Amino acid sequence: MLAKTSLAAVLLIGLCVAGAPAQDLEILHVQNNVYAIFGAGGNVTVQVGPEGPVIVDSGSAGRSQDIMDAVATLSDRPIRGIVNTHVHADHVDGNEIISTAAGFASGGTTGAGRRDATIYAHENLLLRMSGAVGDDEPAPVGMWPGNTYFNDVKELFVNGEAIQILHTPRAHTDGDSIVFFRRSDVIAAGGVYSNTGFPVIDVPRGGTVDGLIAALNTILDIVIPAPTQERGTMVVPGHGRIADEHDVLEYRDMLVIVRDRVQAMIDRGMTLAEIRDANPTFEYDSRYGSDTGFWTTADFVEAVHASLVQDP
Ligand SMILES: [Zn+2]
Repeated sequence: MLAKTSLAAVLLIGLCVAGAPAQDLEILHVQNNVYAIFGAGGNVTVQVGPEGPVIVDSGSAGRSQDIMDAVATLSDRPIRGIVNTHVHADHVDGNEIISTAAGFASGGTTGAGRRDATIYAHENLLLRMSGAVGDDEPAPVGMWPGNTYFNDVKELFVNGEAIQILHTPRAHTDGDSIVFFRRSDVIAAGGVYSNTGFPVIDVPRGGTVDGLIAALNTILDIVIPAPTQERGTMVVPGHGRIADEHDVLEYRDMLVIVRDRVQAMIDRGMTLAEIRDANPTFEYDSRYGSDTGFWTTADFVEAVHASLVQDP
């Protein structure tokens, strides 16, 4: 029953990181055509070019104008697309305002004087956002993605480069996408990789530890380091600082080690309380752990445990 209580808290909040104070946004050039905006909820990745910016995730409620102002410093074109990496509020709450305001930045491009940016996402995100699946209240229709995909990948060609939107099944949630800007050599990882703490596995919304490990392996399959082992393919996490292959590798290994320990303890018949007491995360606690706040170390261990025992 402990499990139910704490996982319900995740369901209510629905954020990757709760309670972040308002702060000035930071804009960094990742490389080539891709930038990242930090401080408006989840990180927002921005690809620029002659067809207009494509952004990955739309930030928290109340930060939409700040995000649009930040994008406007990178491009004077209307935002033409928004890709949602997953359904959590701090990645999608700007959908409606940013998509419908998009055309006004340049006075609009259609007869109506308005052009809405297209919102792309995996179909499972739409099913949860619309309330068709799960226990969440339906979000306003204006937030819903208008262009969804239901298989492994959706491919776009925008601003002179191929963009691959890749579904990573049952990882952070069941509707995750990672976005690979192929020519710029940048991945926007969204929910499946954040380097601010232990990974959030939203079990009530379909997340699993094995899916998350698979998602990190998908990222590792794509990234190629430069000969010095620094730079090469760059990864913009859902939260936290820009990363390279080494960072993702270290994080994946941590998750595999914790998963294997918890599985071994389950196999020995230990209860969740006993597994927590055995502290399977101990050598990572100083870097990623937390005893307080939205996602504690105990929450993480519980989610790993829950996702390992839920499937026969
Ligand atoms: Zn999230």
